[in-house]
Amino acid sequence: MKQYGLIGKSLQHSFSKDYFDQKFKKIGVKGDYQNYECDSLEEIQSLLKSDIDGFNVTIPYKEEIMSLLHELDPVAREVGAVNTLKKTPTGWKGYNTDVYGFRQSIKPFLEGHHNKALVLGTGGASKAVIYVLRNLGIDIIQISRTSDKGDFTYNQINENMMRFCPLIINTTPVGMFPNTNEAPDLPYQYITEKHFLVDLIYNPAETVFLQKGKEKGALAMNGKSMLELQAEKSWEIWNS
Ligand code: NAP
Repeated sequence: MKQYGLIGKSLQHSFSKDYFDQKFKKIGVKGDYQNYECDSLEEIQSLLKSDIDGFNVTIPYKEEIMSLLHELDPVAREVGAVNTLKKTPTGWKGYNTDVYGFRQSIKPFLEGHHNKALVLGTGGASKAVIYVLRNLGIDIIQISRTSDKGDFTYNQINENMMRFCPLIINTTPVGMFPNTNEAPDLPYQYITEKHFLVDLIYNPAETVFLQKGKEKGALAMNGKSMLELQAEKSWEIWNS
């Protein structure tokens, strides 16, 4: 039986275990997928010595875990974060399937005028998002709570910036369960039907950020399809 798992810190609400349990049933594969809540890199290091064949990695280890790997896929190296580990004869190899998931999920909805983006947040997920947007030739303005990260802070976002960037991507956890009545601090009054709002959050299915965009006629998409696509890509990597 093949064994897989998710490495992270608090995994009670994670999607992957259910997804892979259902997948094993659907395709008739004998597989096991477990959550591994780890408090330190040392704990992860011993987990990597076990018989497990592949891992997904989530908050807060997507960047730190790279120091424990034998090899990095070139995309993961460039992004600077991994979310999938495959056991190879020489050691663990790290991949970033968030890149694939994000690109495939937004591509069908992108139109010619979506050529400039506001990216909210500067964490691990924003790195995959920015990698994809740059590769699609989309200009980026990155927003952070603090002026030492990103290009601007939230209180510097003005009407011009909102009009200039028809694509707005939330890579922060703001609005995620259980804080479902929160939303990133934006001047939502400048959103138009030309905007496309993408939230990486998938729980709840419609965040306040997306609701506010829809009220202004914008196109709105949550992180569900990205999540499923990145999981499928992990499966493909483990079985290639
Ligand atoms: P992260 O590294 O913990 O945080 C992302 C960034 O959000 C932080 O670096 C911070 O940027 C900003 N932030 C954090 N708390 C904030 C707050 N209270 N107010 C405003 N900004 C805040 O997390 P991540 O790994 O990048 O993931 C971010 C979100 O994306 C999570 O909700 C995660 O579930 C989701 N995600 C979804 C998928 C998917 O497949 N759909 C994949 C990956 C991640 P600043 O310090 O610069 O403000």
